[in-house]
Amino acid sequence: MSNKNDRCSFCGRGRNEVKMLISGIDGQICENCVDQAKNIIVEEIGSVKGKSGPVKLKKPTEIKEYLDQYVIGQDEAKVILSVAVYNHYKRINYNLHQKNDGSDIEIEKSNILMVGETGTGKTLMARTIAKMLDVPFCIADATVLTEAGYVGEDVENVLVKLLQAANYNVESAEQGIVFIDEIDKIARKSDNPSITRDVSGEGVQQALLKLLEGTVVNVPPKGGRKHPEQSMIQVNTQNILFIAGGAFDGIQKKIAKRLNTNVIGYNKIISDRIDEGNLLQYISPQDVHAYGLIPEIVGRLPLLSYLQPLSKESLIRILKEPKNALTKQFQKLFEIDGIKLSFDDLAFEYIVDKAIEFKLGARGLRSIVEAILTEAMYNSPSQPKLNKLHITKEYAERHLSVEIATKLKAS
Ligand code: ADP
Repeated sequence: MSNKNDRCSFCGRGRNEVKMLISGIDGQICENCVDQAKNIIVEEIGSVKGKSGPVKLKKPTEIKEYLDQYVIGQDEAKVILSVAVYNHYKRINYNLHQKNDGSDIEIEKSNILMVGETGTGKTLMARTIAKMLDVPFCIADATVLTEAGYVGEDVENVLVKLLQAANYNVESAEQGIVFIDEIDKIARKSDNPSITRDVSGEGVQQALLKLLEGTVVNVPPKGGRKHPEQSMIQVNTQNILFIAGGAFDGIQKKIAKRLNTNVIGYNKIISDRIDEGNLLQYISPQDVHAYGLIPEIVGRLPLLSYLQPLSKESLIRILKEPKNALTKQFQKLFEIDGIKLSFDDLAFEYIVDKAIEFKLGARGLRSIVEAILTEAMYNSPSQPKLNKLHITKEYAERHLSVEIATKLKAS
């Protein structure tokens, strides 16, 4: 029976000072103390949840089919990624959960490097795979990482984000996926003699290398600099899948150089067959090294794939086809207000032309559609009689005002 004289046995607050008192055998606890206790558990042992089991394995063809629902084109990258992810989780399940066949074969992991212009789907693919497998996922921007001691983020902070995504369940985080964006930006700039202390280059690569190789890292649970009084959570990166991505602007020159030097003399026929318009398809680890990633990092990202620049047709498909395509999202928004939103094919073409003109690629499609629809989204909730809206090219032109277009162009 509750008694108005009850108090929290931890903080001593009375029933009228708290929202809730939970009774135990010999005492009570209030909601504030429950919260605080949870934080202490997270800091001390890293998790308030139970153990996580093996990741449910999907076959490479199933992974690719799933990706197809969200990512347009990029078939080569999808196949490489599907096989890599399948092997990765097969390996974890074998090493962690099944290795009782007496063999002492330890299957090593293979992290992945995806090369391709910005906005071609690298992050989207990594994120989609994590969603499908229901494993924690985080994005780390390589450009903000520094060697410990310099201003910026320590490499450990990458794992803080992963832990947060895993709800501080360490075991689950240790089977997660980390996407390292813009890895090309930490390439060694050795041909620039003015850089005496290469803050953002080789030192960061060395620090990153440890994570990729598999090591136990002491992670400050709340991120930021390590404080002596803050208790650390230990995270083993051995089973974390790292997918690195970068645009590697200008790497085509390195590819071309290698192909030319290779073909001198004995292999002229191959050089005749080279498709010079799409050199990225011939990318090899040597080119990535020549670009400025240290050989150890290249070695730790053994699966190399490339993404094609998106053609106008692909951009139109991106607007319409993926499971959560942009137009489907806006149609849903309007549908909630009882309005049927539709687009003319010429309007789609116009939107895509603008994205190409502003050099925004797929990334820009959302801002352009948003700009075109803003006025309608502002007015339509106050127009109860409106039940459909058809976007023609003229409508799109009229609503993508010069001012907005200039802003998009500049961003
Ligand atoms: P990046 O290659 O720079 O990592 P992202 O994956 O972040 O690019 O792409 C940015 C956005 O553009 C995505 O969120 C998605 O909406 C869209 N997008 C890019 N590429 C594709 C693609 N191949 N298929 C579908 N949508 C895409």
